[in-house]
Amino acid sequence: MCRLMLVAALVACSGPSDRYISIDRDALETARELDPELEVVEADAEVAVVAFDPARFGALTEQMHERHHRCGGFVLHDSLGDAQAAFHTQLAERAVDYTLDRAAVVEAVLPALDRVRIVETIGELSTMPNRHYQSPTGAAASTWLRDRWRAFASRPDVTVELFDHGFAQQSVILTIPGTSPEIVVLGAHLDSISFRNKSRIAPGADDDASGIATLTEVARVLLAQNYRPARTLKLIAYAAEEVGLRGSQAIVRDFQRRKLDVVGVMQLDMTNFQGSEKDIWLMKDYTSAAQNAFLIDLIETYVGATWGLDACGYACSDHAPWYRAGVPASFPFESRMRQHNPSIHTTQDAHAIKFARLAAAYAIELGKGSLGQGSLGQGSLGQADVGFATTCDTCDAPRAIAPRTAPARGWELLAASLLLLLAIAGIRVTRSALCAAGSSSRS
Ligand SMILES: [Zn+2]
Repeated sequence: MCRLMLVAALVACSGPSDRYISIDRDALETARELDPELEVVEADAEVAVVAFDPARFGALTEQMHERHHRCGGFVLHDSLGDAQAAFHTQLAERAVDYTLDRAAVVEAVLPALDRVRIVETIGELSTMPNRHYQSPTGAAASTWLRDRWRAFASRPDVTVELFDHGFAQQSVILTIPGTSPEIVVLGAHLDSISFRNKSRIAPGADDDASGIATLTEVARVLLAQNYRPARTLKLIAYAAEEVGLRGSQAIVRDFQRRKLDVVGVMQLDMTNFQGSEKDIWLMKDYTSAAQNAFLIDLIETYVGATWGLDACGYACSDHAPWYRAGVPASFPFESRMRQHNPSIHTTQDAHAIKFARLAAAYAIELGKGSLGQGSLGQGSLGQADVGFATTCDTCDAPRAIAPRTAPARGWELLAASLLLLLAIAGIRVTRSALCAAGSSSRS
């Protein structure tokens, strides 16, 4: 009761236009410097819910980047009730059985990933003046990416859609449907931040064109190789991450409302600057320890990279709303958090190819995919049925060929056609006779 009275009194003190955010306790003084009138509604040892002046959001984002080395770093809530629900609600993590049994598929796909294409896509995204969530160019970035991803999809089952948030920029969602109701999500954020002014130049090459470009290359290769997952795969480019994880929060709420069963989330936010001694850094706070262990397995088995563990604080990217919803979430990052790219608008090298390899391996091993021959629903949660040639004229690794079962399917089709013709001719032929003929012709 006392706590409720305290909350009521604080709400009465907050300004009429204040908005509610949740933020790390260690960043509370930074927020207070920017808005001396801010009111702390609730707090525990790690997180505080505060009423904050929305006119200072730009400055808060800037300080979260520069002083606390966090991308995002706070959550903007729609209401006090939403803020308090988020503060008090941490759903238990969904249990997932992690196995590595798709080596043939992963090894077929990884060599097709192209580091040059990733760098080129980063270049295309960063020549846009900015990708601010409220700017015309931020909106144009959404349709540009939708069209780019659609160009990869020649199959009718693959969809690329925009998710409307009520502001200029929309999130982009590519879906490769599986045969199971379970879903695997890989994400990155589409927006860039132009401090203080939404029309200023903000190429955001590393933050986070690098993540979007990494996802784009994974999408290109999976679709070029006719990837067929058992679990539905969704690649999501979130709008408005930099201003309180607004895009990812709305999408998580939508998934929860529709009772969609997400078994895993990987977030790619800054992938192309090697700032520390190890290649890939897994954030161990506000993420899934079990899924992080799975990622370490993937790195050691497929990626050929070194890894380390670090921490990034509360709400440091779009995996945070998923984590709060009980979805196993991971955030592999380009460096230790404090050693990330000092110039978020530039990239350094082709570091991101390691993240593309990790993301593709994750999509295949958690999605339990196979390389389809053309029919829908070939993916299964059992062993993949893919055969491989050992040489390839145009690449340096094994190339997928037709599944081993294809000759038998061809024979069945031929037999069925023959039966039909014979039936039309009025000639009775027993199936056993046809089978006997088939076995002798194959021997
Ligand atoms: Zn970012």
